[in-house]
Amino acid sequence: MDSIARRFATVREQLRQAEITAQRPFGSVQLLAVSKTKPAGDIAAAYRIGQRHFGENYLQEALKKQQELAAFNISWHFIGPIQSNKTKPIAQHFAWVHSVDRLKIAERLSEQRPDYLPPLNICLQVNISDEASKSGIELTDLPTLIEQVGKLPRLRLRGVMAIPEPQQDYQAQCLPYRRLYQAVRHLNRSDLDTFSFGMSGDLQAAISEGSTLVRIGTALFGERPSQ
Ligand SMILES: *Cc1c(COP(=O)(O)O)cnc(C)c1O
Repeated sequence: MDSIARRFATVREQLRQAEITAQRPFGSVQLLAVSKTKPAGDIAAAYRIGQRHFGENYLQEALKKQQELAAFNISWHFIGPIQSNKTKPIAQHFAWVHSVDRLKIAERLSEQRPDYLPPLNICLQVNISDEASKSGIELTDLPTLIEQVGKLPRLRLRGVMAIPEPQQDYQAQCLPYRRLYQAVRHLNRSDLDTFSFGMSGDLQAAISEGSTLVRIGTALFGERPSQ
């Protein structure tokens, strides 16, 4: 087995174990392979062993890889910060966007989503670490934004995404996810079925707190060059 296949096998086993520990149904947590900074060849290798959902942060880099991999049936997720002048190519070339944090961006994505594509799947990014620097809306603003984005015709609002401040301690990893999960559940909207929680360093905690999709980069593709 090559190293990508080995890493995928390890992560899939970790997901399965975390599902068991959290008493979650088998397969209830989807794996999003975060391929930012990695070459198209790595994505092709993962595709050959069954991976279909890939996450990218940088628009130009993602569009280039999408061209190289045009023959593959990949579901592309945009997970990086969004500038409002970049919404059109995102609306045209992705199936999912996880990082919507203001109404203006959502409105543009809805207007610019081509008619020949299904509605764009959307997660709202929420800041759950009380850090002024982190992107994402405040939890108190979430109900209003859900209400507004849920009405946009060319979007399908699916749920929330969070990138908490990295913590070593397991309980400290769980707490912010738990708060956000409960806040969303409290709204009683059965259409919100996606909790985009968890990265390489905290996937067990995220799964125990209700994650339905983990975004894993390093553990699958190896370390990234530092920026
Ligand atoms: C890079 C990135 C990930 C993957 O992080 P790893 O620590 O490499 O698993 C997940 N989510 C977002 C939003 C990212 O930017």
